Amino acid sequence: MAMNPEELEQLRDSLRALLDEIAPVEKVREWDRADHVPPEILQRFGELGVTALAVDEEYGGLGRDVSALLVVLQEVARRSIMLAGLIVQCTNYAGLNIGELGSEAQKREYLPRVANGTLIFALGLSEPNVGADLASVETRAEIRGDKVIINGAKRWCSGAEIADCIYALVRSGPVSERYKNLSFVIIPRDTKGVSMTATGTMGMRGGPTNDVVFEDVEIPIENILGGPDCWNKGWSQLAGPTLETEKLSPSAMALGLGEAAVEAAWNYAQERSQFGIKICGHQAVRHTLADVQTRLQTCRLMLKESAAMLDRGEPSAVQTSMTKLYLSETIRDIVIQCQQVMGAYGYSEDFDMERYVRDAMVLPIFGGSTAVQKNNIASLMRLPKS
Ligand SMILES: Cc1cc2nc3c(=O)[nH]c(=O)nc-3n(C[C@H](O)[C@H](O)[C@H](O)COP(=O)(O)OP(=O)(O)OC[C@H]3O[C@@H](n4cnc5c(N)ncnc54)[C@H](O)[C@@H]3O)c2cc1C
Repeated sequence: MAMNPEELEQLRDSLRALLDEIAPVEKVREWDRADHVPPEILQRFGELGVTALAVDEEYGGLGRDVSALLVVLQEVARRSIMLAGLIVQCTNYAGLNIGELGSEAQKREYLPRVANGTLIFALGLSEPNVGADLASVETRAEIRGDKVIINGAKRWCSGAEIADCIYALVRSGPVSERYKNLSFVIIPRDTKGVSMTATGTMGMRGGPTNDVVFEDVEIPIENILGGPDCWNKGWSQLAGPTLETEKLSPSAMALGLGEAAVEAAWNYAQERSQFGIKICGHQAVRHTLADVQTRLQTCRLMLKESAAMLDRGEPSAVQTSMTKLYLSETIRDIVIQCQQVMGAYGYSEDFDMERYVRDAMVLPIFGGSTAVQKNNIASLMRLPKS
């Protein structure tokens, strides 16, 4: 059963206390500079029961509660968007996907480890030649006896080097058939033939992004997502019910980041004086701060409504695309406005604002880009192309 508003507030309080203990701001800055976060930290979220929110009770969870998971991502991203990304690797890539689409054996194998925060998946959709156009995936997979053999490469596979498994979309027949012969496979990272290198990124530092190569990688046929009967069903699995949560999760992370930036600018404006008064007394700064607070509130309301629609089981594909589009663009802009309030200090590595700006730049790119969401909205609302 979904948490009520009072329980959600308690969840926020517990998370804030945990973050103060395991991820104080100084640590977050260190992780960003070193581009590394210890993956074991995930287990602490497991102990708090956070990752169990992605798992049904019969598999050791607290019952799937998407609204509560979004609150978790928002609250954690307020401290560190990269840390929220680590949670997504457990709760979404592993938990929600396997819970919705996995075979019974896969649920029994993986979900208890999601519930206790000891399982990390990496999402292998993008490839060197494949970005928005996922139906063009080139990584090939073929069934030989009771094995699946995989050859190809994945790009931007976030956290692959710390993951237990790569949840990969592969081409399981002729390319010309596009949507009809894609499959998802679960590839344990330590399988022979899997190799990877890290790619440096501007933001989201601490969660390594990897190029992954598969050379004659052999996995059991049981590792086809949903079992062997789901061979060639990858597209419907990708476009299935988990897609809506996949759009709202980066939106919740964006909201947390936006809240952190607004709070930093709001406080700074009350400390810094120029021309004999605090800068929050200058009308231009006051209006900027009033503006970002207002836009942040529209983001909160939009995300809340989208989550409520999912909870009520209503069709929400248009709404979730609008939410991803609006929150990622709006919050990227909010963060840049907040940086301006802080002047040179918003550009300095000694202040968190500089990290917020770097992190904000990815919002319209990942989790379904702005252009992809606009295409979705126009198509789903049946806007004719000619
Ligand atoms: C930090 C980071 C983490 C990531 N993590 C992952 C991950 O874990 N797993 C994963 O699979 N991927 C991941 N990605 C990849 C991300 O999902 C892709 O970057 C995204 O899908 C866009 O693909 P692309 O960058 O190749 O752009 P392209 O698809 O090449 O697009 C380039 C430009 O063209 C526009 N465009 C493309 N097609 C259209 C169209 N039909 N109409 C209008 N405009 C269009 C795009 O909006 C964009 O502006 C990550 C990326 C980053 C930066």
